Amino acid sequence: MIGVFLDRDGTIGGDGGGIHPLEFRLYTYSAKAINLLNKKGLKVFLFTNQSWIGMGKFTEKTFLQGCKELGKELENNNAYLDGIYYCPHKVEDNCNCRKPQTTLLEKAKIENNLNLSKCYIIGDRLSDMFSAENVGAKKVLVKTGRGLESFKELSNGTSERLKVNYVADNVLTAVEWILTDLK
Ligand SMILES: [Mg+2]
Ligand SMILES: [Zn+2]
Repeated sequence: MIGVFLDRDGTIGGDGGGIHPLEFRLYTYSAKAINLLNKKGLKVFLFTNQSWIGMGKFTEKTFLQGCKELGKELENNNAYLDGIYYCPHKVEDNCNCRKPQTTLLEKAKIENNLNLSKCYIIGDRLSDMFSAENVGAKKVLVKTGRGLESFKELSNGTSERLKVNYVADNVLTAVEWILTDLK
């Protein structure tokens, strides 16, 4: 099974930083992007670091309530997520699930029978790209959110050892590229 992991903040909505779950808004084209993946029969997952939970800025319950609202908004636009994988820890916790760590991807692999080397990770940060690199998944960087800064870091060689598979203007063009890459 092939899965597409979508970062949340700066990739399908919000901005590049943290945001209160009930203030999160999708970009206008994100539901369309997810709908295309749904129609293709790919599994679609939200894949997000939510350190604000660990920092006590909001509770896990509030985050999940935000996810529920996100799900409703997607449903209204004929799109759905197959799963949500999130790290609730703060950086200093040194957990194994915060991107670029790979525990969540391994968990998703087992729960959904995924072939990670055929999966895609779409995100705006290098931590998204490194999480993909660390499991041999394909890396798609979007220029929304913090994406332009990440792109510059890659281009000026700050992260030389990382080569992304595609750089997209946004999540919709990222998905369009994935659909051609599948052929
Ligand atoms: Mg992000
Ligand atoms: Zn974690």
